[in-house]
Amino acid sequence: MIDRRKLIGASVAAAGVAVLGLPSTATAFSYDDDELTPHQSLARLMAGNLRWVHDRMLDRRPTSWRRRQVAEAQHPKAVVFSCIDSRVPPEYVFDQDLGEVFVVRTAAHALDPMVLGCIEYGPAHGVPLVFVMGHTRCGAIQATVEAIEDGVHHPGNLPAIIAALTPAYYRAAPTFQAHWSREQRVNAIVTAQIELATGTLRNDPLLVDTDTLIVGGRYSLDTGRVSLVN
Ligand SMILES: [Zn+2]
Repeated sequence: MIDRRKLIGASVAAAGVAVLGLPSTATAFSYDDDELTPHQSLARLMAGNLRWVHDRMLDRRPTSWRRRQVAEAQHPKAVVFSCIDSRVPPEYVFDQDLGEVFVVRTAAHALDPMVLGCIEYGPAHGVPLVFVMGHTRCGAIQATVEAIEDGVHHPGNLPAIIAALTPAYYRAAPTFQAHWSREQRVNAIVTAQIELATGTLRNDPLLVDTDTLIVGGRYSLDTGRVSLVN
């Protein structure tokens, strides 16, 4: 793995040169041009998640320097498709900097054609990995359980989300144990939704043509850890 701290340090030094009016050599230190295989990209995300879990996130908050560095071009190494939940921002969960990941988010990572197009955009431009990230105690999944089991009617356009998540409910339902709590059922449906989304993406004609690695994982709100699902 690339030593990002050294790179950032080098970038800061290069920025100092630029301030003095000399030509910036920043691009010589950029890691954005590195070509990653799909599995290298996955390893990079999982290493970032370990840093997040253990409070060891890299000291590289988005600075004006980094903002300028990526202003002209972006070279993200993964697409992360996740839930809209405010507690699971992919850049935090995987400790990624500005310009390092495409992020697509919908309630419980539900797919429709426009969302599929957003995910396809990265691999169509050379991004080697799509990571589908669900999370425990997902509120959208809870709302789906309430609609199906309790007959709760949700207002506005929320029923469109319920409809998109209903197949995951029925995929998981045969695995429900009688003694399970609702939270346990919700978590099983989250996993089913991850499996359904990754299955759809693996059969997506554009993604198949690009040899993109498509992986699913479930984030624990309690530990911060992302566990691979399949
Ligand atoms: Zn959620």
